[in-house]
Amino acid sequence: MIKFLDLQKINAQYKDEIKSAIDRVVDSGWYLLGDEVKSFEKNYADYIGTKHCVGVANGLDALRLILRAYIEMGIMNEGDEIIVPANTYIASILAITDNHLKPVLVEPDIRTYQIDDRLIESAVTERTKAIMIVHLYGQCAYTEKIGFICEKFNLKLIEDNAQAHGCIYSEQRKGEKLRRTGSLGDAAGHSFYPGKNLGALGDAGAVTTDNDELAKVIRSLANYGSSRKYVFDYAGLNSRLDEIQAAVLNVKLKHLDAEIKQRHNVARYYIENIKHPDIVMPNISDWNAHVFHLFPIRCEKRDELRQYLSDNYVQTLIHYPIPPHKQKCYSDWEKMSLPITEKIHQEEVSLPMSSVLTEKELFLVVELINNFSY
Ligand SMILES: *Cc1c(COP(=O)(O)O)cnc(C)c1O
Repeated sequence: MIKFLDLQKINAQYKDEIKSAIDRVVDSGWYLLGDEVKSFEKNYADYIGTKHCVGVANGLDALRLILRAYIEMGIMNEGDEIIVPANTYIASILAITDNHLKPVLVEPDIRTYQIDDRLIESAVTERTKAIMIVHLYGQCAYTEKIGFICEKFNLKLIEDNAQAHGCIYSEQRKGEKLRRTGSLGDAAGHSFYPGKNLGALGDAGAVTTDNDELAKVIRSLANYGSSRKYVFDYAGLNSRLDEIQAAVLNVKLKHLDAEIKQRHNVARYYIENIKHPDIVMPNISDWNAHVFHLFPIRCEKRDELRQYLSDNYVQTLIHYPIPPHKQKCYSDWEKMSLPITEKIHQEEVSLPMSSVLTEKELFLVVELINNFSY
């Protein structure tokens, strides 16, 4: 069986380091809001290139808290509009509707699967307050044009960086320092769900930002709305990163760049060797700008391809089978026509992708795909 993602094997590489980190927390007697979280927040902010990192309970909460903080700060109000790609994972959209804000769905570019920056400006209205870009599949969604639109209409730029830790925006000018996704806008939400490129051993997330006030409000909101014990400025929630997850993330962050390199090797192998007239491969113009959280291909005979691979012991997944506007929870959108989003949802297959796939496994996957017929 060639697994889609062998988490056991990934974490086994760091087993001794992880176990001693967890032991340290167990022995410390201190399990929340302690030194491990503080040190992870510093390490991750340095890595991403922002002034602040606030650890929270998961990626959805990271995004919810950014928007909630903007509401508390009087920058957004109920009913305001947030532009978001129509083909994102539903959590990006849940974060918006949970705050009684209105998601405005914009189609992706079929070549990159990222929000189509040519369609954003016409989606802006009087009530638009932000663009939430999603670095989907691990590929940078930011473009200079998106930056200009935010400036022109005075919009906040929020990044959903759940799938793209370590990804680099490389259209920077000479002499500029390296800019990573998560540092490109006003604030970014990160998920450390176990299956993400930087994955904890349970739920975990973070917000990164350069904005002092925003960081302070989010930190308070995530701790019942309190910044001093038993004094509550906001009706907040409980969304904290715990010490054990932070200790594990401190270990795994050190290995993230090496993991990304291995993912690049897998992607390069697929791109160089998969040759099939009915399969559309990802279009990679800049390798730095993709960390291959997923390796998405498209095939009109997607279901047949998946069945064939599964019959031959290769696991694949679909990201994602039903687009948000076709979900029961958003039944108001049922009649919306988003043909590019729908095409992606009908044709996408994600091939096995991780840092621990062997050459033999990759060879097998490629051979099978190249011999696919229906
Ligand atoms: C995983 C994911 C989230 C949510 O993160 P959780 O930690 O699972 O809450 C949000 N957005 C995207 C694009 C994701 O892939």
